[in-house]
Amino acid sequence: MTIIKTIDEFKNIKPCSSLGFVPTMGALHSGHLSLIQKSVEQNEKTCVSIFVNPTQFLEGEDIDSYPRQSEQDLDICKRAGVDYVFMPEHMYSEEEPSVIAPPIKGYMLEGYNRPGHFDGVLSVVLKLLNLVKPTRAYFGKKDAQQLYLVQNMVKNFFLPCEIVPCEIVRDTNGLALSSRNAYLNESELKEALKLSKSLKVASEMIVKGRVDGEEIKSCMLEVLKPLKVDYVAIVSRDFKELKEIELKNSIILVAAHVGKARLIDNMWV
Ligand code: AMP
Repeated sequence: MTIIKTIDEFKNIKPCSSLGFVPTMGALHSGHLSLIQKSVEQNEKTCVSIFVNPTQFLEGEDIDSYPRQSEQDLDICKRAGVDYVFMPEHMYSEEEPSVIAPPIKGYMLEGYNRPGHFDGVLSVVLKLLNLVKPTRAYFGKKDAQQLYLVQNMVKNFFLPCEIVPCEIVRDTNGLALSSRNAYLNESELKEALKLSKSLKVASEMIVKGRVDGEEIKSCMLEVLKPLKVDYVAIVSRDFKELKEIELKNSIILVAAHVGKARLIDNMWV
């Protein structure tokens, strides 16, 4: 496994028949690992990037305390059969053009609560895709809006790369794995289960044919009490708000604060 720390070094990697790419911010867990394993399976070579991207954090967010554990991350990558780990210290110069996320879908839900977050995400993803030039890049459905916006950018900027969506990996108790779960103590971990529980309640309603959006959202909000909820939303797979569940075309999303952590979760129905 080759560790690459600078952009110039990256330019020297040997071409291969197919390169899979998994962009991450590190503090790797089984969710990341599932993306890495899929890439290793589907490609001749796999590259993982580990970069805590400053432009996607807003003023006052957790960039300084974001969990960093490079040695452990490298070990996980090595054991998973990764060929290249790209760990740049810098990705930006002083003055450069930036990518602005689409005005509606980049500024609703996550983008409404974290205005400018997706500008930063798309900027770094565009840089990474142009540098790594992967055949396929792997993104988790856990960050559903990010996945949609990346797919939208790849399509509209004609980037020669296939985006592969990957299923959400959960703990046995239902909690969606996230690097930010590291902020939670034992009692907060229990509170955090309310996110996945609220989605479970929604799925039980849908199974019974109760598909009204307002009704589902209000039952979810009951389950989430007393957490500070940023949003509960129902959107189509291309992020248009839905009044009613459309089977096989809906995503139910939730974002809420637990202790110091802001957590997100979702379910594709
Ligand atoms: P991050 O390091 O949080 O930026 O995540 C890197 C990639 O891993 C993103 O595409 C995420 O959507 C994905 N990811 C994070 N957590 C999970 C999870 N629990 N299940 C599946 N994918 C995940």
